Amino acid sequence: MFSENKISEWKNALEKEKVRLEKEIENLEKRADFGSDVDGFDEESDEAEELINEKGAAFTLQGGLKAVSRALEKMETNSYGICERCGNAIEERVLDAAPESTLCAPCKKEG
Ligand SMILES: [Zn+2]
Repeated sequence: MFSENKISEWKNALEKEKVRLEKEIENLEKRADFGSDVDGFDEESDEAEELINEKGAAFTLQGGLKAVSRALEKMETNSYGICERCGNAIEERVLDAAPESTLCAPCKKEG
């Protein structure tokens, strides 16, 4: 299994990431609110496009936040670092690169 040091390292990384994602989502939501107050026909199409991009970004951020929250929950229940597909321990290098990973390297490869 993993060392305490590694676990707390990943936990720190996850908690930082969680705060970062929450802030980014909040910023996006604020900007979306501003967007609806602006009137100006010239800018309308640009703005619509931007809004779509921002919605896409928010979707990605929310997906990331979900993964991070889930990883933190797993730490609470001592099931962190276990591959959801095959049940083996996820490689340390995988978790170092992305602490929210839920699949081991071979399973990730299989898609
Ligand atoms: Zn696996």
